[in-house]
Amino acid sequence: MQTSRRSLLKGGLFASMAGGLATASMVSSAAETVTLPQKTYDLVICGLGIGGIVTAIRATELGLKPVVLEKMGEASGNTVFSAGFMLGVNTKMQQEKGVKSGDTVEKFYEDMMKVSQGRGDPALTRLVAEQADNTLNWLHDYVGVQYAVGANLVWPMLQRAHLTTGDVKPGGKQLMEYLLKKAKELNVPIMYNTKVVALLDNPKNGNVIGVKAKTRKGFEEYLGKYGVVMATGGFSANKQMLTMMAGVPAANMPVRGSHTVTGESILLTGPYFPRVVNVDQYHCGPIHGPTGANPLNIVNTGIAVSKETTRYTDEGKTYVQMSRDTAAFTPGNWGYMIVDQDTHDLPVLKNDWFSYESKKAPVYKADTIEALAKEAGLDPVKLKKIVDEYNAALKAGTLSKMNPPNTHKNPRPILKAPFYAVPFQGGMTATFGGPVINTRGQVLDTEGRPIRGLFAVGNAAGGLFYDNYVGGAQLTSASVIGRQIADYVKSLAK
Ligand SMILES: Cc1cc2nc3c(=O)[nH]c(=O)nc-3n(C[C@H](O)[C@H](O)[C@H](O)COP(=O)(O)OP(=O)(O)OC[C@H]3O[C@@H](n4cnc5c(N)ncnc54)[C@H](O)[C@@H]3O)c2cc1C
Repeated sequence: MQTSRRSLLKGGLFASMAGGLATASMVSSAAETVTLPQKTYDLVICGLGIGGIVTAIRATELGLKPVVLEKMGEASGNTVFSAGFMLGVNTKMQQEKGVKSGDTVEKFYEDMMKVSQGRGDPALTRLVAEQADNTLNWLHDYVGVQYAVGANLVWPMLQRAHLTTGDVKPGGKQLMEYLLKKAKELNVPIMYNTKVVALLDNPKNGNVIGVKAKTRKGFEEYLGKYGVVMATGGFSANKQMLTMMAGVPAANMPVRGSHTVTGESILLTGPYFPRVVNVDQYHCGPIHGPTGANPLNIVNTGIAVSKETTRYTDEGKTYVQMSRDTAAFTPGNWGYMIVDQDTHDLPVLKNDWFSYESKKAPVYKADTIEALAKEAGLDPVKLKKIVDEYNAALKAGTLSKMNPPNTHKNPRPILKAPFYAVPFQGGMTATFGGPVINTRGQVLDTEGRPIRGLFAVGNAAGGLFYDNYVGGAQLTSASVIGRQIADYVKSLAK
């Protein structure tokens, strides 16, 4: 089959954002007739995250021959940085554990829609809620993923969370280990150091039929009889795209996860005119950027001040909102959580202190607020005034009248020495936008029609997430959609 390189020509604007692709060289390569090594599979899957590997395993289970192309030497996306929480409402694992939480598919659906402010695609959201149990049961029974269940770990505290367990940390890396083991058992070909740089189409009908990939040996073409799956993650590590689409504060955030998710699902699919949605939306969380220490729960205690020693946010907000505010409203994206010894000793904060200690991130400590301010490089007079006002407002029940208000449900006083100042930044977790998909995982064009042969999954796809996500829903949805793609392709292959 002769393939078209029109995508290289048309892709100039998008591809130039990728940094590594020079528009000029693409034009000249379009003028040349080159024969590249070609390999043909049923499905070409670009990216070795959970979305890609689940699609590949399911496709192989169904008798298809997929190939996975990964630009790095190992799985390097957000999956391996994730905590490894997945969600189910009545899985076999929950039943075996005797979980009786009263949770339902409908509640799961409603929670996802609520957290996406009603902006998540209803059909995709319903699919995820309905297929989560089947998918987790399959991951457990067929793939061999081990989960801990039965604890109230993530909102809305319905024991919905399934935490991947094993020796490897974090849970997401362990999850990938299970998936890779299964892929090996099934002989799924995974091509490492193989970076997808362009999509190929059938010049007669425009269907996407393969990719051009850069390997250590040069360029190669991978053709997929049933098409190509973009599983390349989002663009949380592409500062240029973040600046243009999510804004400067987002672009200035240190990355909490992968440095290799750089937006190829948007950059490479541009020539096919997908409907790209929610690219201004992303998830963020607190991080000590230089070390990677994680103050996840600390930011929901005490008060937050900037380097200028002013309060800049409502400490009653979620950690996501506080991280967003820290990036947007503080010089250099630095906040300091101020807490006292009583708060320091809360069991829920144990992991956070350990994270700071083990990563050698600074935590300032002193017996008076003024001395603490000096230690942390803050203004002692201003900090003392802020803490005194906060304690007084807490006593008087007027925290919500402060400027900015503090609407924390269980505000804690800052009275017992020693006192602590914990520096942190708003950090980028994952982007939510991309080419929108339907419930088969097909990418839709600007007119809402499927682009033949083009699929997307995980953070490479848009439609499901807006503003925030129910903890665990991203890994779950990438797995659900990955299976849907494989099942649909199988139906085409019959
Ligand atoms: C710190 C952190 C904690 C998280 N915890 C959770 C959690 O507990 N539960 C949850 O549901 N979600 C969590 N998430 C979100 C979740 O990790 C992601 O949504 C999910 O892993 C995305 O998977 P993916 O398959 O889309 O892509 P990724 O896992 O990001 O993988 C994409 C892969 O594609 C490769 N790639 C990129 N471009 C190309 C190219 N051109 N050619 C070839 N390969 C390419 C990349 O190198 C990468 O290996 C967390 C995220 C972070 C950062």
